[in-house]
Amino acid sequence: RIAYVNGRYVQHGDAAVHIEDRGYQFADGVYEVVTVVNGRLVDEDPHLDRLWRSLGELRIDVPMSRASMKAVTREIIRRNRLKTGLVYMQVTRGVARRDHPFPKPGTPPAMVMTVKHMRLPGRAKIEEGVKVISIKDIRWERCDIKTVGLLPNILGKQQAREAGATEAWQVDEDGMVTEGTSTNAWIITKEGELVTRPATNDILNGITRLRILKIAEAHGVKFVERPFSLDEALQAREAFISSATSFVTPVTQINDTVIGNGRAGTLSLSLRDWYDEFMAGLKES
Ligand code: PLP
Repeated sequence: RIAYVNGRYVQHGDAAVHIEDRGYQFADGVYEVVTVVNGRLVDEDPHLDRLWRSLGELRIDVPMSRASMKAVTREIIRRNRLKTGLVYMQVTRGVARRDHPFPKPGTPPAMVMTVKHMRLPGRAKIEEGVKVISIKDIRWERCDIKTVGLLPNILGKQQAREAGATEAWQVDEDGMVTEGTSTNAWIITKEGELVTRPATNDILNGITRLRILKIAEAHGVKFVERPFSLDEALQAREAFISSATSFVTPVTQINDTVIGNGRAGTLSLSLRDWYDEFMAGLKES
């Protein structure tokens, strides 16, 4: 496997950053994960838009032009013969003697890119659905920025694993679900309405989330962006999670409550199918 580190392509096992990289010391950096399916990048431009936005919000310089970013992305896919998997890109505020304020202007940001090969789950697995647990949302007020500061997410995901669950839904002070630790949260109400939380600073506006909303609209599925409570989720007809690497993954259990009939819901599966169709129709770019 080959990784990209600050202008060089190196063996993954030898890839390293400086000990005074601000990403290492302060989690002072941002990232993106872009899925590759059959050699095609899924929603590359929206992911780069979000990366640029994350950098802007934190006033980290862009590491290179968008065109160069795309060139490096293609090169790392080629060098790793990546057909299906993901590209991980991370940009930090660079290397400087440890001190909280930003380093002096002109300090170059540091950038790494890696890939991961992935196998997509089969139909049976998807129809089985996954379990989620609920946890308190203990994150900060800028969850809209995709930063590498992920401790609450990591602790939550580990708690899910230890409970035999796939994901943990974070619940705010008002009892409303914000999102998963690495996915957006969705329900389909008893009335058949598709619901997901609006993209405010409380959640990461998932690129998959945005795509699903477009797909829902194109297929005439009624949806509303509004907060929903954990209680409402427990009584929902269907539920699912979304992310670049989990696409649409049906949820069949929340804590001890079985959702629907304990199998993936029909609208969730349709959205999954439509998302798969969208990916199958992607052109090389
Ligand atoms: N919410 C959080 C906290 C995430 O970390 C992620 C992705 O990693 C998502 C939502 C889903 O975003 P996307 O669909 O862009 O992968």
